[in-house]
Amino acid sequence: MRNSVTVARVTRQVEQWRRTAPFESGMAPQSGMASQSGAAPQSGAAPATSGPAEHGRARPKVIVVGSGYAGLGVLSHLEARLPAHAADLALVSPVDHLLYTSLLPQVAAGDIEPRHLAVSVRGTLRRTVSHLGHVTEIDTKRRTITVLGRADVPYTLAWDRLVLAPGAHTRTFDIPGLADHGLGMKNLAEAVYLRDHVLRQLAYADASPDAAARRAHCTFVVVGAGYTGTELAAQMRRFTVKALEQFPRLRLEQVRWLLLDLADKVLPELDEHLGIGARQVLRERGVEIRLKTSVREVRTDAVTLTSGEVIPTHTLVWCAGVTPNPLVGSLGAETVRGRVVVDERFQVPGLSGVFALGDAAAVPDSTRGGLPAGQTAQNAVRQGAAAGRNVAASLGYGGMRPYRHRDLGFVVDLGGADAVANPLGLRLSGVPAAAVTRAYHLLALRSATNRAYVAADWLLAALVKPRTVQLGFLPPPQATIAQVERTELYQS
Ligand SMILES: Cc1cc2nc3c(=O)[nH]c(=O)nc-3n(C[C@H](O)[C@H](O)[C@H](O)COP(=O)(O)OP(=O)(O)OC[C@H]3O[C@@H](n4cnc5c(N)ncnc54)[C@H](O)[C@@H]3O)c2cc1C
Repeated sequence: MRNSVTVARVTRQVEQWRRTAPFESGMAPQSGMASQSGAAPQSGAAPATSGPAEHGRARPKVIVVGSGYAGLGVLSHLEARLPAHAADLALVSPVDHLLYTSLLPQVAAGDIEPRHLAVSVRGTLRRTVSHLGHVTEIDTKRRTITVLGRADVPYTLAWDRLVLAPGAHTRTFDIPGLADHGLGMKNLAEAVYLRDHVLRQLAYADASPDAAARRAHCTFVVVGAGYTGTELAAQMRRFTVKALEQFPRLRLEQVRWLLLDLADKVLPELDEHLGIGARQVLRERGVEIRLKTSVREVRTDAVTLTSGEVIPTHTLVWCAGVTPNPLVGSLGAETVRGRVVVDERFQVPGLSGVFALGDAAAVPDSTRGGLPAGQTAQNAVRQGAAAGRNVAASLGYGGMRPYRHRDLGFVVDLGGADAVANPLGLRLSGVPAAAVTRAYHLLALRSATNRAYVAADWLLAALVKPRTVQLGFLPPPQATIAQVERTELYQS
């Protein structure tokens, strides 16, 4: 049985090509060579196949899907562990970098330049062939994947080992207006856009003669008091207060940041000490916290809360969790809340040669009694190394080992000298927490170049006035969560 579900639009396109193609997919002539190097066929041609054309391949081929913490970790480990003749390595990802997400709120707040959080794939990997594109279809019987490459033209690649690490998307619900008017905080485009958007609102407010309109432009709502929403609300409030110097007609009391969560505390998923400390900083900064509250409706000019209150605003940032990349659901394997179930060696039961890890996989965590490991960078990084070792072992190099990781604690950067952290169970707040938090991030960033840039950004942010200018890279109609995260690719 063919275990594949795919994108409606792409499937139609592929099927049309298949019907008109002079040969079956998988029997393509050596045009596959071109497709493998990323040169996709022109529209109207048959989907190129580099995979099955490689029947004569001497070496097994390992394909990793996703260049995040997990995927890049696997490939770094394979490059280090496998001799060059042992396997051909390939990566498929729509981006050419690993995004260090933990500092994304600081991109929105203007303290860090976006490029400095992007760790170059090409600077990290030496012998992996990197394909730019989205994997949209997995055929576990034929052992191929379909990649939507240049100009969204699909082509296929064959694999002997498939490692799935496509991460997660922003989790949205069927809340009226959310998909069209809500903003996400999952990638660089969204972070840069939010900064522009906030500055635009301040500019509109500054120029408006109408008090109610000014209030609406100066009101910002963040939903989700997990680490992303909490860091974002704290840091953006600080950013807007600093930016007010450039908007002489606006007063501090006109700027409102609200943080909402359905839970009854801030940072509900973390140690209580972190939540209490973060809540205190948020209060001191002037962020309004509404717990046991979410939104019922989002419009361009207001949000309606679940309490019935209507808040005039043009800004709703949705940080209420993530949902695993739907690609892993298309395997037809067992899933838990959208994450594909794997064994403790990252293998998908019943699908030989298929591994999965990171946010998209439910990896049993023996330190939590076998419950799935949390969707955190900490786990994804360590899973990358462990899965790399196991994939190498499946090719005959070394032995397999189960995944084990004991939580090292968490750091929450609230901007400036404020943070809360519990490294190795130690409860810290204020300057010591901020020092530990920043040291941790510099260590965790896996490139010395990125580290240097981020450290310089922090220094500049502490010493020099921020430049409150908009960049305007992304026009507002293209900034919806669905568009930026391309969720339409997985609608079957
Ligand atoms: C704003 C923010 C702040 C965070 N802060 C922290 C923190 O402080 N501490 C912490 O532990 N965790 C944090 N996290 C969570 C952490 O980022 C994730 O748990 C981690 O990124 C998961 O790693 P991953 O490799 O599974 O996925 P990702 O890092 O998301 O990587 C997924 C990769 O797959 C690629 N991809 C997506 N779809 C496809 C496709 N169809 N085909 C091919 N490639 C695809 C993506 O482009 C990306 O390269 C934060 C997350 C966010 C969004």
